Amino acid sequence: MSIHDLPPLREVINAHGLSAKKSLGQNFLLDLNLTSKIARQAGDLSQCDVLEIGPGPGGLTRGLLAEGARHVLAVERDERLRPALQEVTDASDGRLTVLYGDALQVDVSAHLSAPVKVVANLPYNVGTELLVRWLTPAQWPPIWDSLTLMFQKEVAQRIVAQPGSKAYGRLSILAQFRCDARIAMEIPPQAFTPPPKVNSAVVHIKRLEKPRFDVDAKLLERVVARAFNQRRKMLRASLKGLAPDVEDRIIAAGIAPTERAERLSLEQFCSLAQQFSG
Ligand code: SAM
Repeated sequence: MSIHDLPPLREVINAHGLSAKKSLGQNFLLDLNLTSKIARQAGDLSQCDVLEIGPGPGGLTRGLLAEGARHVLAVERDERLRPALQEVTDASDGRLTVLYGDALQVDVSAHLSAPVKVVANLPYNVGTELLVRWLTPAQWPPIWDSLTLMFQKEVAQRIVAQPGSKAYGRLSILAQFRCDARIAMEIPPQAFTPPPKVNSAVVHIKRLEKPRFDVDAKLLERVVARAFNQRRKMLRASLKGLAPDVEDRIIAAGIAPTERAERLSLEQFCSLAQQFSG
């Protein structure tokens, strides 16, 4: 049997008595045209290993395989999905491996060969944490080439936000410092079973070979975390504690100490972080 001969997902769900668990962020995509379209947002998969977090009953997984992924490594926490995912594995010509466990704990690196693309309809409860981990690896460039991820629309907007907007914050800086990020598709609640309360969006994040500005990433992360922790405060107050002469350092970066985090560009954040390197 090939993946194209597998039964419709609604039948799979009924046959295995799979009721969606809210605690695991289970909102499934059952339309295979849509899952193939999402898979295509990641570009050519034929020369890549794909990491998928949370395959659920396998809708997006089938899309990835149908779009020609060289290999898909899927990590699923819910053991109830084993029989449904086994059917996809059996029809995958050896191109699908499923690991069972918590994506925050499982070490996937031994199972992946470069180039790697991450494509996932993420569980909302761990989505942001996974994204932050992918964006802040110990070494750059990271193991992955691109991330194509479904988020709540509000999170997607934070990733691509520009200074001066309400959505602009830590995620915008972390994503844009070393990647190009854009919203590739918006998806309404009705596309999911069961439908979530909010709109969703697929974000495509392509990593750059090198950061846009020459600054230590860990330092930038520290400054940005502080600055946005109290985003409405002036920088001289929010960054207090980073150094005794914090105001002088802000001025040395060419920024007014009365400025607020939400108005600083990525370049200004990088200049600011450089001032705290000694
Ligand atoms: N990819 C499927 C789809 O598009 O229909 C399912 C997406 S659903 C939004 C999220 C999936 O992530 C569920 O299958 C859920 O069981 C799984 N999940 C939740 N928490 C997880 C975790 N910590 N590690 C791995 N998978 C998790």
